[in-house]
Amino acid sequence: MTNTAPITQDVLTIPRKLPDGPMNLVGLTRARLREVLIENGTPEKQAKMRVNQIWQWIYQWGVRDFAEMTNLSKAYRAELAEKFVVEIPEVVSRQISTDGTRKYLVRIAGGHEVEVVYIPETDRGTLCISSQVGCTLTCSFCHTGTQKLVRNLTAGEIIGQVMMARDDLDEWPEPGQSTADNGPRRLSNIVLMGMGEPLYNFDNVRDAMNIAMDGEGISLSRRRITLSTSGVVPEIAKTADEIGCMLAVSFHATTDEVRDKLVPINKRWNIAALLDALRAYPKLSNSERITFEYVMLKDVNDSDEDARQLVQLIKGIPAKINLIPFNEWPGSPYERSTKDRIKKFSDIVYNAGYASPVRTPRGEDIMAACGQLKSATERARKSRKAIEAEAGL
Ligand code: SAH
Ligand code: SF4
Repeated sequence: MTNTAPITQDVLTIPRKLPDGPMNLVGLTRARLREVLIENGTPEKQAKMRVNQIWQWIYQWGVRDFAEMTNLSKAYRAELAEKFVVEIPEVVSRQISTDGTRKYLVRIAGGHEVEVVYIPETDRGTLCISSQVGCTLTCSFCHTGTQKLVRNLTAGEIIGQVMMARDDLDEWPEPGQSTADNGPRRLSNIVLMGMGEPLYNFDNVRDAMNIAMDGEGISLSRRRITLSTSGVVPEIAKTADEIGCMLAVSFHATTDEVRDKLVPINKRWNIAALLDALRAYPKLSNSERITFEYVMLKDVNDSDEDARQLVQLIKGIPAKINLIPFNEWPGSPYERSTKDRIKKFSDIVYNAGYASPVRTPRGEDIMAACGQLKSATERARKSRKAIEAEAGL
């Protein structure tokens, strides 16, 4: 079977409004929230103020019960409670690794499950969130890639993962206070590096990240949000324009021949096309550096020649190269490069003037490391043979 990277986005997002239930307000943009309030009887001249108040309760103080929104009249609170809910995905399980990494399995509408990982470090705490259940792409080294795309997450389900983690970390300020009053943040960074290709679910990812960045709510700076893409070239400029966050790219190879096998979307947008889009990104988004993610696969992409070629290719792009030792998963068709090999590769990149940190695998004991995420309930797994055939092995 040949591996055809999909060209268009599958729009499988379920509508926000469930057929018979009240509407969930989580994930609506400010503009949309205003519309739904007006549609449901809020006088137009009060709408802006009501949006601000409700927004602050939901995203600044983490309140889910309208009854607690005490700066709204009792009658208005009751009206809201009749028509709306403030709901986030339900936590099915939480595992804590010996290194402090937390992996959550959360359930979203339709009974699907996605994984969310919290990685504490000394100077920050990073939440790795998912944008899709499964993935349409089939990168041959990625566990998620062995799972078919089930559906896109809604904006509410994406920002809901952040809200869930803030619940678990007990990080909502008391009503009336701001996050800044709360001491250093435990959840200070977001990376869109969980399950799915965020740029194949652009609108929902954009809406969710704009909520995360909104100053009267979760209020994370755009520099603390990193979106990782496998290289959906036409969406890269849009990301700069409409989100403006930091960008990471799953580069992983230095020739089209190898990248075609590892990251099959390369057949649609090859290395040259990708580099053109990346070159334009920092200026468009006014962000400093692009992170090039490079998974270290033994004897596949880890030679000195690859390291030199990589440096050549990215010349002129403000960049950091993040080397990711391959994380194995059951049936994976590759092995991790040796420590020595990774060190030599990293040295070449470093000596060429680029930061080249090696990503320490976190939460390996709970299968929370990069590329290992895949919820246990989704059984649409391909056979090892199919994975190898697609990888051209
Ligand atoms: N779909 C997006 C984001 C999710 S993957 C993307 O591909 O960029 C986050 C990072 O983990 C990507 O760089 C991905 O290539 C890498 N990754 C996937 N599987 C891996 C594995 N088994 N070992 C190490 N890194 C892996
Ligand atoms: Fe999808 Fe990213 Fe995994 Fe590729 S690496 S299959 S794009 S989640």
